Amino acid sequence: MQTRKILGQSVQYLLHLLFPRTCFACGCDLSAQENGPLCPLCTHQLKKPGPYICKRCGVVLKSGGASCYACRGSKAKKYTCKMIRSAFIFNTSSRALVHGLKYKQADYLAAFMGESMFKQFAQYPELAEVNLIVPVPLHPRKLRKRGYNQSELLARSFSLQLGLESNATCLVRTRDTASQTKLNRQGRLANMSGAFACIAPGVVKGKTILLIDDVATTGATLEGCARALRQAGAKKVLAYTFARE
Ligand SMILES: [Zn+2]
Ligand SMILES: [Zn+2]
Repeated sequence: MQTRKILGQSVQYLLHLLFPRTCFACGCDLSAQENGPLCPLCTHQLKKPGPYICKRCGVVLKSGGASCYACRGSKAKKYTCKMIRSAFIFNTSSRALVHGLKYKQADYLAAFMGESMFKQFAQYPELAEVNLIVPVPLHPRKLRKRGYNQSELLARSFSLQLGLESNATCLVRTRDTASQTKLNRQGRLANMSGAFACIAPGVVKGKTILLIDDVATTGATLEGCARALRQAGAKKVLAYTFARE
């Protein structure tokens, strides 16, 4: 046992000498003991949104209160995605991981990110009622280009830790929506409605679903997914993302 442990450490040290790893966010050298993709300092920067967040969409509120302007009063009722929560605020550390996973083919980051989402999940008892996990789908064209759906990888790692079923095939993206970055909130909502379809109503019927995505910005993508799932018979749709812009 002891020998095996020493051997394991030696192998790890050798690998470290041959392939020195650097922090995904700041680029500093990682020590041989560091298992994750970030240095201790950048790991420490992964922070939960808050202290005040909108109780519906989870956006950080600068001056307290319960809801953001878009979700205040009766406006909250018009959303099908009843709640959005995120593991971390969007900053240098979380952005580096999201960009790596999405644009640098670093699919191996999903294991660490999904585990981090699981560790933060206990802080959101309001999401505890969910009984099915569904990742936000990619359009087939984008999936072919990237080779994987980053949200599906996150959902797989997260659901494994949580011990809850994850289904990545019941929801599909039917429209390759134009890049949303130039659209405002209303534009994004309009752009996303009808962009998704649930092709396996039997899977979602009566379920309280937790949508998983890498980042929540306006929540328009999550809203589009939620509408398709509710139309197919889901009881309720909530969402949980790795980062919150
Ligand atoms: Zn770092
Ligand atoms: Zn809100």
